[in-house]
Amino acid sequence: MGKALRSPSGRLLVSGCDVLRVPLTGDCEILREQDITVADGVIESVAPSGVTSSFDGAEVIDGRGLLATPGLVNAHTHSPMVLMRGAAEDVSVEAWFNQRVWPIESNLTADDVALGARLACAEMIGSGVTTFADHYFFPERIAEAVTESGLRADIAPTYFSSRGQEALESSVAFAEGWHGRADGRVTVSLGPHAPYTVDDEDLRTLADHARRLGLRMHIHAAENVEQTESSLRRRGVTPVQVLHETGVLDAGALIAHGCGIGEGDLPLLAAHAERTAVACCPKVYLKHALSPLTPVRALLGAGVTVAVGTDGAAGHNTLDVWEALRLVALTQKQAVGDATWMNVSDTLRLATRGGARALGLGDVVGALEPGMRADIALVDLSGPHCRPLHDERAALVYSVRASDVRTVIVDGRVLMRDRNVLTVDVPAVLAEIDERVGRLLDISHGKAVQHYDP
Ligand SMILES: [Zn+2]
Repeated sequence: MGKALRSPSGRLLVSGCDVLRVPLTGDCEILREQDITVADGVIESVAPSGVTSSFDGAEVIDGRGLLATPGLVNAHTHSPMVLMRGAAEDVSVEAWFNQRVWPIESNLTADDVALGARLACAEMIGSGVTTFADHYFFPERIAEAVTESGLRADIAPTYFSSRGQEALESSVAFAEGWHGRADGRVTVSLGPHAPYTVDDEDLRTLADHARRLGLRMHIHAAENVEQTESSLRRRGVTPVQVLHETGVLDAGALIAHGCGIGEGDLPLLAAHAERTAVACCPKVYLKHALSPLTPVRALLGAGVTVAVGTDGAAGHNTLDVWEALRLVALTQKQAVGDATWMNVSDTLRLATRGGARALGLGDVVGALEPGMRADIALVDLSGPHCRPLHDERAALVYSVRASDVRTVIVDGRVLMRDRNVLTVDVPAVLAEIDERVGRLLDISHGKAVQHYDP
């Protein structure tokens, strides 16, 4: 494992690269042959190459022939679930939870989670993801992996009411202990799993804690239309209404999936749009033969932030946000029957600025502009699958492969250089995981962490 590089001067120069400019609205643009200067983790300038006067003592990355993009944001995942990649295929949602994932998760130890998180961090660094929103058990071990890897993450400790008050209190203690650590790269949201696994009283208590601590909530809700129908049948309100009534929307919520969000929910979400976002993870909806998909057009029309996620690799199989954003574009065009909708610029915006805003980091990351933290992916679009290169934005949305990402920088620190991940010892992590996976998949004990019956 190489040493993670950071110049002793705290200064970094990425020279001669093209830059993807992602504006708040309108078309993304390509700025040609730019120098990006970074000081103490912050972008100081993005200017035509050679114009910046001396940047002595800076670590220099030769960006010629590469395109600098804002690091991608994975707005919903369960990073340690990489341990279950490919272990729950060709099953319904109900069987995925009850026969595979929740029984397997009852085998997980804190050490398993630590290893899974480290592998996930390596995969995300390798594909240009610089920030992720995580939701899982043993969150301290994930936070340690994030700290070591150099990535940025918002971590929500998964909570089920079946786990009891002690678990709720330890969620809150994790938030109090970890929010803002790793030079601000680790933030925390509270993570009630879903309105169907967490009762209203616990949702209220967690929302109160979130408000007290100035944090948000990260929760699965209205994941599919069946959940919305079941909630209406059982209790006369939609899952989004439950989030409203329990104060979750008021605290601020990152809602995973939201495919069952209906017209009537939109005003509630719109009223909290400043702190509410929905993460769309289309690959898992397609795999589970679910429809409709996240109502992205209606949400954006209501002023609600939409972001792109992979969900865990037990469903998505990769943590590749290029793949996820491509599927967002394709499925949204198909869903609304409009080929002009979800164009390449809007798609790229969702996976960068949209993700940042969804995590409450809209002023921190998501664009390569002076004052933003320096979270940068340098992408090589010279491969035959991207050529001829008529439109870099189209290449990023429809042609690029995760392995085209050459170099990744977070907070001004180089985490991957020329495809070498510098902060995770991938062979060692894989060797340890290989020793453990057999035990993980043995579910003959018949136990499960939870039962799916929304
Ligand atoms: Zn999820």
